[in-house]
Amino acid sequence: MLKWLVRVVVLVAVIAAGVGTYAYLEIRSLETVPVTEDLTMVKGLGGNVAVLRTDEGTVVVDSMTFQMQGERISALAEELTGKPVVMLINTHYHLDHTHGNPGFAAGTRVVATEKTLHYLKTIDGAAWEGDAAALLPNETFADAMDIEMGGKTIRLYHPGRGHTDGDLVVLFVDEDTIHMGDLLFHKHYPNIDLEAGGTIVEWSATLDETKKLPFTNVIPGHGELTDRGGIDQYQVFIEQLAEVGRTAAANGWTKEETIEKADLTADAGYEEIAFFGLPIGLDREFVLTRTWEEATGNFERAD
Ligand SMILES: [Zn+2]
Repeated sequence: MLKWLVRVVVLVAVIAAGVGTYAYLEIRSLETVPVTEDLTMVKGLGGNVAVLRTDEGTVVVDSMTFQMQGERISALAEELTGKPVVMLINTHYHLDHTHGNPGFAAGTRVVATEKTLHYLKTIDGAAWEGDAAALLPNETFADAMDIEMGGKTIRLYHPGRGHTDGDLVVLFVDEDTIHMGDLLFHKHYPNIDLEAGGTIVEWSATLDETKKLPFTNVIPGHGELTDRGGIDQYQVFIEQLAEVGRTAAANGWTKEETIEKADLTADAGYEEIAFFGLPIGLDREFVLTRTWEEATGNFERAD
C-alpha cells in the first residue's frame, strides 16, 4: 500500500516538475523574425513584439505576458540592436501585450493612447500596484503622435474602434512596415473586447482607415508576419461577422440560433490561440457569441 502511494507521489511530482519546466521554457522562449535591417519581429507567449534600432536607442512595441518576458525582450532587443531600450509602446491594455512592461528599466518612455492608460488603471488596476506602476504608460495621446528618433520616423495612430476603443497602430516609416497590434489577428480568431469599447460593427472602417497609410509589411498582434493581403482577408472575415450580427438582430435569433445559422466562411484555416498548448477560448463560437451580444446589446460597457 505504502509502495503504491510512494509511486503515485513520485509520479505526481514528476508530472508537476515536467509541467513547470515546460511552462518556464515556454515563457522564456522568444523567436526572432527579421523584417528589415533595423526592424525585427519577436514571437513568444503573448502578442507579437517589434524591435526597432535607432541611433538614439531601441524602440520596442508591446511586452508580452510576464515580467520575465519583458526582461528577456529588453535584453534581446539590446543584443539585436547594440543599443539599450529607450522607448516602449503599448498597442492596447490587454495583459498579453503589457504585463511584460515591469521587466523594462524604470525611466523608460512608455507610450500609449489615453484610453489604454485609463483601462490599465481601471479594468487591470490590481496588476499595476507597487513597483509595476513605474512602467505604466507615461506619455499618452488621443488620435495621433509623431516620433522622430535617431534618424527614424515613427507615427502612432488610433485609427478607430475594433479590438477595443483605444488601440494604436505603429507605422515604421523608414521600414515600410506597420505593427497593427490586435486590430489584426492573422489567421486566428480575435478577442473582441466589447466591455472596453471593442466593436465588430466598426472594425472594418478602422481597417480601411489603417490601409490608407503607406506600408508593405504587416506585423499582426497575433499570427505570422503578413502584408496588405493579410489585412484584406481579415477584413472579409470581420465584415461577414458584422453581417451575421445584422441578420441575427433583424430575425430575433437567440445566441444559440446565431451560432448554428451563421453564414461565416472566411475563417477557413483559422486557428485558436493557445497558451502552454491549451486553447484559451478564442474560437468560432466565441466570436459568434460576441457578434450576437453586440448586435443585441447583451453586454455591459466598462467605465
Ligand atoms: Zn488584445
